[in-house]
Order: sequence, then C-alpha cells, then structure tokens
Amino acid sequence: MNNTQLRNAAQPTEEPATGAVATDGAGAADADAARSKISARNVNVHYGSTHAIRDVDVEILDKTVTAFIGPSGCGKSTFLRCINRMNDTIDGAVVDGTILLDGHDIYDRAVDPVQLRAKVGMVFQKPNPFPKSIYDNIAYGPRIHGLAKNKSELDEIVEKSLRRGAIWDEVKDRLHQPGTSLSGGQQQRLCIARAIATAPEVLLMDEPCSALDPIATAQVEELIDDLSSRYSVVIVTHSMQQAARVSQKTAFFHLGNLVEYGDTTTIFTKPGDSRTESYITGRIG
Ligand code: ADP
Repeated sequence: MNNTQLRNAAQPTEEPATGAVATDGAGAADADAARSKISARNVNVHYGSTHAIRDVDVEILDKTVTAFIGPSGCGKSTFLRCINRMNDTIDGAVVDGTILLDGHDIYDRAVDPVQLRAKVGMVFQKPNPFPKSIYDNIAYGPRIHGLAKNKSELDEIVEKSLRRGAIWDEVKDRLHQPGTSLSGGQQQRLCIARAIATAPEVLLMDEPCSALDPIATAQVEELIDDLSSRYSVVIVTHSMQQAARVSQKTAFFHLGNLVEYGDTTTIFTKPGDSRTESYITGRIG
C-alpha cells in the first residue's frame, strides 16, 4: 500500500477543455476532438505542499506524437505519470481531476492500474531492461497478462514486438543473451519493444533520448515516427529541436500550468502566449 490519495476522480464531465491557449482554429479543434484518445479535465497534482500541476485540461490525440515541453520542474513528467497512474506509486502524490482513456475514467475504482499500464505503456529516461534475457524482457508482460496460449504464440509476440521496436535484426541471433548486454540505444529500443509487447494503445516516453548518443537518438526518433501510425505517443523532452522533429502536437508547460497546446508548427512559429514565445526563443528556461 502507498499513501497516494485519489480524490474527486470519479465522474466524467461534459465541460470542454479551457485551461490552455489553443493555438489552432475552431475547425482544427473539431477535427482533433474526433481523434481524442485521452481527455484530461481539471487535473491537479500535489506532492505535500508542492502544487505541481494546476487545472490541466487537454485532449491527446490517437495516432499522433504529442510533445510536452517546458522548463525543468514545470510538471511535464508529473502530468505524464498521471496518464498511466504511475503517480499512484509515489508516496504523498495526490492526483485530482478526471482523465479519460477512450471515454473511460482511468481513476475509476474498477480500473486495475497494472492492466491500465499494459494499455498505456511507459519508457523512461534511462533504459531499464530487466536482468533477464532479451527474449524474457519482451515475454514478461505477455506472460503476466496471459496474452499467449502457447510457446509459439509467445515467440510470435516477441518477434513482432522486437520488429516494431526496430531492433529485431540486431538481436534475432542472440535472444537468450542478457538485455543488459546491449548498447544504450539498443537497450532503449528493447524497452520500447517491451512496452509494445502488451498491445498498448498509448506510449508515454519520459525524455527517452536524453541518455543516448546522437546516432541512437536518431534511431529512436525514427522509431517514434513509425510508432505513431499505430499508437498515441506522448513524449516529454527538454529538446525543442526534438519536439519539432518528432511531434505533430506540442503542449507547453510552465510552473505547473499547461500554458499552450496546439500544432507543433504553430507553437514554434506563431505561439499565442508570451510565455511560450519566451521559452522557445530561449528567454526563459
Ligand atoms: P519536469 O518534468 O517538468 O521537470 P516534474 O514533474 O519532475 O517537472 O516536477 C514538477 C514539480 O514537482 C517540481 O517542483 C518537483 O520538484 C516536484 N516533484 C516531482 N516529483 C516529485 C516527488 N516524487 N516528490 C516530491 N516532489 C516532486
């Protein structure tokens, strides 16, 4: 048991998202509403007396890469962790508000966070393979979620996940070697493949390239682009260049507020809020 309390997270609301400046026009907003995968309403997070996220409303789209940008400590990772209830595992974190996945409240009492995290996978800053073989890293999730009836089905899931993780060719002849024997970039693609193995719908990535060299970063960015044809991908990044390269939508956070959300091109060329402009031009950071 941890001390996480979840308050006031029960009922969906019909209220439209209003918190941030929306940089796109009304037509674009209507089109986006039709592709919404995750709806956050009035989300607040406290860690003790720290109010880390303030009244965040946002729609995150299916089959789209959304970048969360903003200065360090502004709440990007905290909000990302709300989307698969990882904050439940942090003592003292209190999440308020509503987050819907395909219209269903992920904080409903009936939702099992372990099942939720299979659907909403997460990749961390530092690659964290399990101390197991490459094969068993991928097979772990499908085994605990009962996704394969027999060994050959499991083999298929492992191969498919490693292919989607763009690492199959590099590991197919060494599946029984430890995951930790791979390079940093390969380990990160292994971790992405591991997240894919439980048939997720959303992939959350918390600065997935910050521990990688430029070549490994380029490989992971290319992979993120591929993944967005199947999944809703949300990436926290400190790099505005990376946000501009990989995402179609960008959310700018500042001091716990979601200040502005819209098409990445618009955010980087015609931001609607002076704080966004100051950040992207390097005046705050
Ligand atoms: P970012 O991802 O934008 O760097 P974070 O979400 O990590 O920001 O942090 C937002 C705020 O919440 C900061 O003030 C940070 O110190 C605080 N915070 C983050 N994680 C914890 C935690 N586990 N316990 C207490 N405070 C935290």
